[in-house]
Amino acid sequence: MPRAYVKRRGAEKPSSGTNLAIIYPGDWMSDDSLFDHVEPPFEPLPEEEESLLPESEEEEQDSHQPFRIWSSIQSIVVTAFLLASLFTLFTPNNLFSGEMFDRIFQAWQANPRISAPVQVNTPATPALPIGIVSGHYKNDSGALCPDGLTEEQVNLKIASLVQQKLMAEGYTVDLLEEFDDRLSQYKALALVSIHADTCDFISNEATGFKVAAAIHSVYPDKATRLTLCMADRYAQTTGLTYHPNAASEDMTYYHAFDEIHSTTTAVIIETGFLNLDRQSLTENADLVAQGIVNGLLCFIRNENVTLVQPTPVP
Ligand SMILES: [Zn+2]
Repeated sequence: MPRAYVKRRGAEKPSSGTNLAIIYPGDWMSDDSLFDHVEPPFEPLPEEEESLLPESEEEEQDSHQPFRIWSSIQSIVVTAFLLASLFTLFTPNNLFSGEMFDRIFQAWQANPRISAPVQVNTPATPALPIGIVSGHYKNDSGALCPDGLTEEQVNLKIASLVQQKLMAEGYTVDLLEEFDDRLSQYKALALVSIHADTCDFISNEATGFKVAAAIHSVYPDKATRLTLCMADRYAQTTGLTYHPNAASEDMTYYHAFDEIHSTTTAVIIETGFLNLDRQSLTENADLVAQGIVNGLLCFIRNENVTLVQPTPVP
């Protein structure tokens, strides 16, 4: 539906008799079927009828003219009243967005007999921030390396870069401490908590990253989607290996998952091992941050995810 068209008509809210003639529904929304099931409120024009009628019936038609005019005026008034009521249902924001009209229109097309559900607030309100928890920030050091490098430092550098990059994309971004007061009932487009794995050498396998969502997520589909987006984009961007089934209990029972609002989709990422992936995490922090940004944008912008989870061998 042409947006400008709706906007213009919305501005011409009918208020007096002289304006009534311009709000005939067929004219108001001539390009869609929004009112297709509604009987046109006007009787057909007499001139059009005359040519179709036999001569003998013309006089009888003429004798009904006063009644037909009065009936037309009544129809105009009723239509105007209905349209005026319709306009008052909508606030200027949702009217001019065109979004609600599109929804109504789509619902009507799908089933003209039922009324369209009108949802004023969409779940993904653009005003919501993105939450970035910098792991261990202002709480403890996290993993420690022999030379004094701490996980907290590594996380903070990456988290700050993620914040800058997302703000450059036009988003509001909260950089949060590990136990930030704002986490309580926190509402966000998405939340990601950034951590890194141990600095101890475990084995040559101890390289790569992990992503986990809350084990008891209110919206498991959204949590799965954010997990897949993060795993796919982070792997593509950084070249680090994904450990799909390596999420620890610490990750799936992560404290922030229980604090934030139930509508906020959240994941925790272990960006890599401070031992074998140290170079990636410290010297290529910008690339690591970009991987997280790409994962978040994939989720928020509803991009396709093609990550194929390895299927267990029977
Ligand atoms: Zn950590």
